[in-house]
Amino acid sequence: MNITQDTAVTLSYQVTSPQGKPVDKGDLSYLHGGYENIFPKVEAALEGQAVGFATTLDLSAADAFGEHDPALVRTIPKAEFPPGVKVGGRIQSVGSDGQPQVFNVVKIKGPEVHLDGNHPLAGQALRFNCKVTGVRAASAEEVTHRHVHGEHGHQH
Ligand SMILES: [Zn+2]
Repeated sequence: MNITQDTAVTLSYQVTSPQGKPVDKGDLSYLHGGYENIFPKVEAALEGQAVGFATTLDLSAADAFGEHDPALVRTIPKAEFPPGVKVGGRIQSVGSDGQPQVFNVVKIKGPEVHLDGNHPLAGQALRFNCKVTGVRAASAEEVTHRHVHGEHGHQH
């Protein structure tokens, strides 16, 4: 079976820096066909391929987790900070567009708390290595939910 619109695709993947430094690896399943489950460049490279196909893609920051947005870096007074949240934790606040936005707590310095709402890998070019390990037709329910269920997919 080939990867086409509304197929459930399983990949074994490895993400590194452009220089080959390991960032992440594992297995994932995604719904193919523009559901934004995975980077669009990866989807484009896998279109029409089948189990056993392997590829390496060099992704710019914009093609991966996006450019680092300085507007999402903030400092707030510790007094406004919910108690019990520590460095490495996350809080929900309001983004520059007025929508809810999750911020990572980067550091606490004196009376100030430094927050960053960017993805930890924002602003980084990445190399994405993957091998197709499974392709099947997605169920009607998966298409409705816009994601894949089962192993390496959504559990609910
Ligand atoms: Zn679902």
